[in-house]
Amino acid sequence: MTTVLVTGGAGYIGSHACKALARAGYTPVTFDNFETGWRDAVKFGPLEEGDLQDRDRLRDVFAKHKPVAVMHFAALSLVGESMSNPGKYWRSNVGGSLNLIEAAAEAGCKNFVFSSTCATYGDQDGVVLDENSTQMPINSYGASKRAIEDILDNFRASHGLNSVIFRYFNVAGADPDGEVGEFHQPETHLIPLMLDAIEGKRDALTIFGTDYDTPDGTCIRDYVHVCDLVDAHVLGLKWLEDEKGSRAFNLGTGTGFSVREVVHHSGSVTNKPVPIIEGARRAGDATALVSGSRRADKELGWKPTRSTLENMIADAWRWHQNGHYDR
Ligand code: UDP
Repeated sequence: MTTVLVTGGAGYIGSHACKALARAGYTPVTFDNFETGWRDAVKFGPLEEGDLQDRDRLRDVFAKHKPVAVMHFAALSLVGESMSNPGKYWRSNVGGSLNLIEAAAEAGCKNFVFSSTCATYGDQDGVVLDENSTQMPINSYGASKRAIEDILDNFRASHGLNSVIFRYFNVAGADPDGEVGEFHQPETHLIPLMLDAIEGKRDALTIFGTDYDTPDGTCIRDYVHVCDLVDAHVLGLKWLEDEKGSRAFNLGTGTGFSVREVVHHSGSVTNKPVPIIEGARRAGDATALVSGSRRADKELGWKPTRSTLENMIADAWRWHQNGHYDR
């Protein structure tokens, strides 16, 4: 069977990717340091515990498994934290990714699928965001991801390491079978925090800023279901295996929802009121991030099927109520 090395395979998106890879006939080898991942989320293939800062460990894992490709999910991804502690983001995200990319190149692994982000575009009011939009990140998280895109471009030229770069918009939802789901500690993301507030696990959801230049004053994001998102990764991997080259793709649906709209839908899906507090803006947040590209559809044949807000909230809600991981 064809092996794919999945960094961050014990995390939210990585674990869903492992399930999709296994289903598509690949063997996903999870590489994770369990700083933010969960042991019980590693269900779909072997585990190699390790840290991206450990170059010898990486070398050994490449030698042992001889993966045909890498899917690189492991990263720090909190916008707010990246603003208060940029060094951590540059050291971990950029330094760790550089070690991984070098180890892949050294091992002769030619295919690299990278989790990038729409945060690399920054805050471009009114601009339709496609893959050719200028990348002007306004937070250290986005800056660190853009830097890794640059590293991949350099290694394409120097080592023939081809990459598919996926710029995610906002990932939400959970595996409808309930095998894996979203669970961060601490949680910072809108939908799980809101579900916590609905369940009374926290007092209220604080809306970060109600004075943005949007119809209802709150930030607008493009939410995509995690299962649709990881399907794109399997398509991207096949695209790389067909030796098509290197390419960046936005992964979003093209429809934006404001924070207030997400709150409203959550109330109707769960049939419960959402306690909210209107708070101040969060540093580093862009006003609106919505994909304006159909490239993933046209070139990879990616067709999101689960990414309605109702589906994402319903799947997250089911996971929230029934699923959990133990440390
Ligand atoms: N948000 C909010 N309250 C929260 C968490 C998030 O109002 O407790 C807003 C946040 O400002 C952003 C949107 O919800 O506009 C999505 O934020 P999230 O952290 O889920 O993802 P991000 O856009 O940072 O990747």
